[in-house]
This record gives sequence, structure tokens and C-alpha cells, in this order.
Amino acid sequence: MVTAMKHKKSSKVAIIGAGFVGSTAAYAILIEKAASEIALIDINKEKAEGEAMDLRHSLQFKGNVRVNFGDDYGLCKDADIVVITAGKHTKPGQSRLDVIKENSALFKKMVPQIAKHNKNCIILVVSNPLDVLTYLALKYSKFPKSRVFGSGTILDTSRFRYLLGDYFEVSPTSVHAYILGEHGDSSFPVWSTANIAGIKLKDLKKFNKKAMDEIYKETKNAAYEVIAKKGATYYAIGLAVSRIVSAILSDQNRVLALSTYLDDYHGARDVCLSVPCVVNRSGIKEQLKLPLNSLEKKQLRESASIIKGLIKGL
Ligand code: NAD
Repeated sequence: MVTAMKHKKSSKVAIIGAGFVGSTAAYAILIEKAASEIALIDINKEKAEGEAMDLRHSLQFKGNVRVNFGDDYGLCKDADIVVITAGKHTKPGQSRLDVIKENSALFKKMVPQIAKHNKNCIILVVSNPLDVLTYLALKYSKFPKSRVFGSGTILDTSRFRYLLGDYFEVSPTSVHAYILGEHGDSSFPVWSTANIAGIKLKDLKKFNKKAMDEIYKETKNAAYEVIAKKGATYYAIGLAVSRIVSAILSDQNRVLALSTYLDDYHGARDVCLSVPCVVNRSGIKEQLKLPLNSLEKKQLRESASIIKGLIKGL
């Protein structure tokens, strides 16, 4: 029996936005059998149809996932999770914050529509600027904060672990290190707790401060570099979305760095930012309070004040 099907007979994920990210997330969910039904929703119905057709043609090889499509938010009805990837993406040379006006206006219209059709779903925000839009999705849906969150720094963390694993010559899955804060330029690495097999990075033979700084710089600039070279990023975020969907639908209690509403996390208040969270069928079950050092706490509060300033300016 496939793990995703253990806890529910059927599970539906609606993905709004069938562009690079939405369609790749659908592909990852289908391959990993993370859900039994996928609905692709896009204002460009033909694009959603084309993607749905292409995905359906793969069922011969993976089987048993229903794929629907349309341009109607009514397709969110009965979804366990609504993943939002709709909106403007950044072009080469743009920052995630350059699309703030258009995407926040889109969320103002779209999120109440989702809530109208489905009061019980979990909303997973992937569109940028991620932390601002997660906050707006929470506000416009009026859902509890456990059910509205963003993919946050799960992707930044995965890039970071890949680069650290490459440097220390271990699998990225054996690197325990986080990027937290904004999914964007004010993110920060949590060096104080970063470890491999319980050994702090600074105690490893190959540790070199300059190399570590370079690795963080490369992590931070990864999206800009990929976008400059191929126009968009979608494989890693597609799998990250599938990982989050599995954590929810298979009730895994998995710890992931996600953007979630912070009441007070080391002094960061009334803002959505990424911290390690326990994720299960209820959504965010718990935020884990990492023992940050004083520099990291300051960096988190700086991220918070940037995001709060942006929300205020809207
Ligand atoms: P894209 O342009 O390929 O896709 C966006 C899709 O949204 C388009 O197909 C468009 O027709 C659709 N859309 C626009 N308005 C809509 C509406 N009102 N209803 C339904 N669909 C609508 O862009 P992309 O590369 O897939 O990126 C999507 C978003 O994801 C961007 O904001 C991008 O910055 C973000 N992104 C986030 C991460 C992350 O880690 N969180 C990673 C990569 C991209």
C-alpha cells in the first residue's frame, strides 16, 4: 500500500497556477503518489488543460491519480490542500519583492474565493513574495494559523544542505542545518546549531569560515542564478511542495522550515516567517523554538521588520 493512502481513502490537492511551479509540483505529487486527486486551476484554461493532458498521459506508468483542470476556483471544493502558485514570477534581474503589488492584489481577490468554496482546507502559499503573501492569505481567508502557511525556506534550506553536503562530502540528507527568516534576501543561516552526525560544523576537520560564508552567499543567490540561466526555478520547489503535501496527508509530524504566523518567536511578532515546524494532518502542529544565538535572533527580527514594513506599505 502506498504511504500517502494510509490515512485517507482519497486525498485531493488543488493547485492554483499551472505555470512552471504549479505543473512541476503536480508532476512531483503524481510521481510520489502524495495525493489521489490533483486539480490544476489557471486563468489560462488551455494551459491548465495542456498540463493536465500531459500528466494524464503518464498515468500508464504511475497510475491511479485523478487529474482535473479548469479556470474555476470551484475546483477547490473538497480539496484537503490548496496550493497557490499563481501570480507573476520574477524575471532575470528582479527580486521577489518586485512582484509584490500585482501578487498581493491577486491574493486579495483569490483567497476569499478559495475560502468561499472550501472552509476546511489547508492553504499552502508558494507564490512570491512568499512571507508577505502568506500573511495576506491568513488575513483574507480568516482560517486558523495552523491551516495557512508558506513553503518558506524549505527550498533555501534544501539548497544550503546540498552545498554543505557537497563541501563536507556527505549526503545532503545527513546535513542538519537551516536557513530561516524571509524566503528572500534577508534570510539567514543558523550556523550555531548546524551539524553533521551531531558534530557542529565548526568542529569538523574541513570547516573553513570563508568557505561557509561562500556557501551561504551561493544559497542566497541560487534562485537569481537559476532564473538568469534558464528563466525560472521549478524542479526543487516542485519536490518541496510534494514533501509538504505528504507530510500533511500522511500525518507525518515531519519537521520542515515553513513560513508561519509568529506570535512571538525570539521577539519576531505578528509576521509570517520561516522557522522549523512540525507538520501533520492538522497543518502546522507546532513551531519548534531553535536556541538561536544573539546574532541570529537579531537577523530574525530584521527579517520581521522588513516584511512588516512591506505589508504596511501595501
Ligand atoms: P508562471 O508564470 O510560469 O506561472 C504562473 C501561473 O499563474 C500562470 O500560468 C498564470 O496564468 C497563472 N495565474 C495568474 N493569475 C491567476 C489567477 N488569478 N488564477 C489562476 N491562475 C493565475 O510562474 P512560475 O514560475 O510558476 O512561478 C509562480 C510563482 O511561484 C511566482 O510568484 C514565483 O516567484 C514563485 N516561486 C516561488 C518559489 C518558492 O520557493 N516559494 C520558487 C519558485 C517560484
